[in-house]
Amino acid sequence: MAGNWKMYKTPADTASFFAKFNSLVAAAQHCEILICPPTLDVTTAVEATRGTNVMVGAQNVYPGKEGAFTGEHSGYLLKSAGCTHVIIGHSERRQFFHDSDPEVVFKKTVAALEAGLTPIVCVGEMLAEREGGKTEEILVQQFREGLASLTAEQFAKVVVAYEPVWAIGTGKTATPQIASDAHAVIRKEAAALFGQPAASALRILYGGSVKPDNAKTLMAEKEMNGVLVGGASLDPESFSKIVNY
Ligand code: PEP
Repeated sequence: MAGNWKMYKTPADTASFFAKFNSLVAAAQHCEILICPPTLDVTTAVEATRGTNVMVGAQNVYPGKEGAFTGEHSGYLLKSAGCTHVIIGHSERRQFFHDSDPEVVFKKTVAALEAGLTPIVCVGEMLAEREGGKTEEILVQQFREGLASLTAEQFAKVVVAYEPVWAIGTGKTATPQIASDAHAVIRKEAAALFGQPAASALRILYGGSVKPDNAKTLMAEKEMNGVLVGGASLDPESFSKIVNY
């Protein structure tokens, strides 16, 4: 159960969040819990979650260990700061920061793996692509661009998030059937490239307007291995209800 805070919360807000959130999810043993705050809040989040069942991740990674890349953060820096995971190829990064360029998601995924981080690789179609009957094509294309050149050993460490762009931050959640069908497309492609056992073991999260009142229905789908939550992860009560669905 992963939260993506995007560009919200100061370090002080981060400390307040965990002061409430940690105890609300302390008994959760059915899942892994992850919060991806802005990079500036990672240190505060790592301190605030030490010794708890909550992990901290980043929202982006630069491929490369260190160098003259103003404003960027390598996997090595994120791992050193205490991150365990990193979100890669989020649709906001694909739309506004060139993450849809060929090879970017692949390079970032490899960089994350080399740094010992678990990559959460996002794929998802725009509304026009869904309406134009292109969902499957887009999912397969994004999956292949990002992941097809990984080794089997690398692929086994990847988590995929299906995030239909039309459902992100819009309040329009995909129906469980839509989400489930998309997950099945991703799993079929994983089987074609890496074999059935790897595809069955792949964890696929759904993201797009997940809220406390729809998490249970979504998670009831057998294809669903977890959720990636934006807006509803900002409030400790709300995200704890999703975690404890
Ligand atoms: C996201 O940012 O990945 C996301 C799914 O956002 P929201 O839950 O707000 O739709």
